[in-house]
Amino acid sequence: MTTALRVLIKGGGVAGLTAARSVLHYVPNAKVTLFEARPSCQWQADRGVGLWNMAVRRLFELGLPLSTGRQHAHATPPASYRSIDGVWLSKCSSHLASKVRVLTLRENSLLQLLKHPNVHYRYQTAVQNVMASRKDDDNDCGDGITVKLETGEVLDGDICIVASGGGTSAETKTSCCWNDSISGIVPSTTNNEPLAMCGREGPFETLVSAGLRFAVVPLDAESFFWFATFPENENTELLSVEQAMEKVKQFNCHVPISALLEATDPESLVVRRTYSAATAAAAATTKLIPPDYAGPRIITIGDAENLLSNNLAQGASVAVEDGYMVGRLVGSLNNPKDLDNVKKIFRRKRKARIAACRTMNQFTQLISEYPQISKLMHYVPAALNANIFDASLVYSLGGKEAISEI
Ligand SMILES: Cc1cc2nc3c(=O)[nH]c(=O)nc-3n(C[C@H](O)[C@H](O)[C@H](O)COP(=O)(O)OP(=O)(O)OC[C@H]3O[C@@H](n4cnc5c(N)ncnc54)[C@H](O)[C@@H]3O)c2cc1C
Repeated sequence: MTTALRVLIKGGGVAGLTAARSVLHYVPNAKVTLFEARPSCQWQADRGVGLWNMAVRRLFELGLPLSTGRQHAHATPPASYRSIDGVWLSKCSSHLASKVRVLTLRENSLLQLLKHPNVHYRYQTAVQNVMASRKDDDNDCGDGITVKLETGEVLDGDICIVASGGGTSAETKTSCCWNDSISGIVPSTTNNEPLAMCGREGPFETLVSAGLRFAVVPLDAESFFWFATFPENENTELLSVEQAMEKVKQFNCHVPISALLEATDPESLVVRRTYSAATAAAAATTKLIPPDYAGPRIITIGDAENLLSNNLAQGASVAVEDGYMVGRLVGSLNNPKDLDNVKKIFRRKRKARIAACRTMNQFTQLISEYPQISKLMHYVPAALNANIFDASLVYSLGGKEAISEI
């Protein structure tokens, strides 16, 4: 390639930042510009996220080893649901739990880590639209793309990576279902009953009632995060933090809620909205992106591409894997005009993984929607439960190869 590859990225969340890093890892002379609508890539209120093995391995390949240090914890797999009376609805075996421990860390730490000195970050710069553009004869990369910013500025590039998240635009709200969730971080300075309990038992997720889930997860050596996901919100308005906290206070489960809430850093409280797999049939047809984005050089990744509900804690992992893959594919091109094929290959390579995630999402969603399953679980031997859950978890994580030690 005689001219440097021009890569434009819409969105600076986990997917966009990973993609930028991966492109530069595989094409060191690429010119990468990332547009982020917010004033920085950091979230105002931080939260904990978990990364599964495959994503941790991908970050390792990009030169970001996450498996040592005190910034994170190793947690046993989430989506191990208990009913409020303590019955395990789904729980993998301790053998598998030791192999597929989830690495938990603060999302802002991950975003900070992903930043690359050679990326041109443009903050408070929202992309209005992205379109395929006509051939530029001086450019040996062939046809390109044009990005229009909300300021009216227009930029040309060779490829555009759309990583603008799930979004909650009016258009998407009408075509799929959404769950609101609130999360909070309990910092290291406290040592009270719920923390001691979490420390003993690792992360757990409790079904408080149909569709209502509450989880507490170790975050690093001393702190924890918790989140509550509410049943589908009929309202178009996102719940406020106050409304969500009121709901959490009413929870009737074995966790000492009031002590946990008291110990929570108020600055960390945040409500976000995610897609609900309750309408998984819509997932394949619902498009979060405008039809203009159909061009072969406009590649959608992360939440913008994959409608996954957050009941398996795989969204950030999938965002990392997507970002990694797009960079690697771009780097593998022998002929720059092959950029026209990257999207097709990307989708083909990611299809099975996303389908497996969705299937597992639906499985856990089913458990979550019907807590009465707990009555039946009294009759299911623990070993059989573990066998079923082990098999589904391995499948959803990308097969045995994906869960081997890092
Ligand atoms: C409460 C909760 C807990 C979760 N916990 C976990 C977990 O433990 N593990 C896990 O794997 N996943 C978890 N997830 C899911 C995970 O956080 C997401 O799947 C992941 O962050 C998606 O990353 P993304 O980069 O695709 O999108 P986002 O993080 O949404 O980033 C999109 C970015 O694009 C920007 N943007 C949007 N529009 C424009 C525009 N027009 N122009 C420029 N920029 C734009 C946005 O400002 C944003 O910065 C959780 C989700 C929730 C709600």
